[in-house]
Amino acid sequence: MRYDRRVGILCVCVWCIWCGICKGELPDGLVLITGQDESERVCHRILQDDESLKTLFDPEERSFYVNEPLQIRLVKKRELLLRFYSPRSVRNVILWARLSSSGEQFKLAEFSYIPAFAEYRIPLSFLKSRCKYHTRSGREIPLEKKDFDKETFKLEIESSDAYYRQLTATDCRWKISFGDYTGEHWRPLQPAHAREAVAVALNMAYLFSTNEFRQMLKTCQGKFFKDNQGTEIDIKELYNRIFNLPALVYGRVSGVNGLGGGTIFGLAEWCYLEHYADAGCITHTLFHEFAHCLGYTHEGNMTYENNLGRGWVSFCGELYRKLGMEKKLPVYSCRFLDTRNSGIAIKR
Ligand SMILES: [Zn+2]
Repeated sequence: MRYDRRVGILCVCVWCIWCGICKGELPDGLVLITGQDESERVCHRILQDDESLKTLFDPEERSFYVNEPLQIRLVKKRELLLRFYSPRSVRNVILWARLSSSGEQFKLAEFSYIPAFAEYRIPLSFLKSRCKYHTRSGREIPLEKKDFDKETFKLEIESSDAYYRQLTATDCRWKISFGDYTGEHWRPLQPAHAREAVAVALNMAYLFSTNEFRQMLKTCQGKFFKDNQGTEIDIKELYNRIFNLPALVYGRVSGVNGLGGGTIFGLAEWCYLEHYADAGCITHTLFHEFAHCLGYTHEGNMTYENNLGRGWVSFCGELYRKLGMEKKLPVYSCRFLDTRNSGIAIKR
């Protein structure tokens, strides 16, 4: 029941028994996504075979930090855009939000399952109409449009999923994107290569952050050289270079195994497919080109060995093989993407 000032009469709402407006009840703003919500209406996929190359090569549309493969951002229509750069799915993800630095976090969305390479658009329901949310301490709070300030609005992703924790534990911060390189040896990178590039990036970032890598690298002091005169590489400096690398832009080459340097990371098609423990575990080009990205040349033993003893490439390749065989790499098997058998025109 409410009083309408415009008509000056007392109106009896015929819905008052159910609607809850007078009783102060608000609709729940929580967005719940269950495993059954994989329909196209709710869940889209990125890096799929029909994706336009314009989108694929646009870093605004297709890029991610290797330690933040589940990406959430506020977009123009004041909704949240979630994209997951991963060849494997993840379970049990909660999205917490905070409206100001002093405010308590409240539960905005809950996903029981996020598929590989998923994209969701999540409405901020309280911007449309007043609704209720629950805070971390279990309090029920009403929110509406006037409470929102995009400058102070902050999001946090929480997940108990072991795979998600593994991905986000890396100390690497490389920004991963895809390059439309042209010129001798460069060939167009297709979405299938980009999906494989995500697997390569996640695996390498994980490997470099393991204790095994750190411990093994310590034993290499005095064994890695930057030139053919035998100038030793300081292992701590090498270690820091890995984590200070700002970005990697993946591309595809043909006629050579790879092309790398700076942020350019070009690999032949077979390199994208045969690094897995169950697909040959051939990784020499991955670590050769990565050494170029770290600033090392063909001198010394960081790319080729030049009779200077076992170098960086075989050292990293051995650990990659071990972690892959033990299923410790995030994307340890070619079966997750199954690119060779997916019917895509990918040939060696
Ligand atoms: Zn080279």
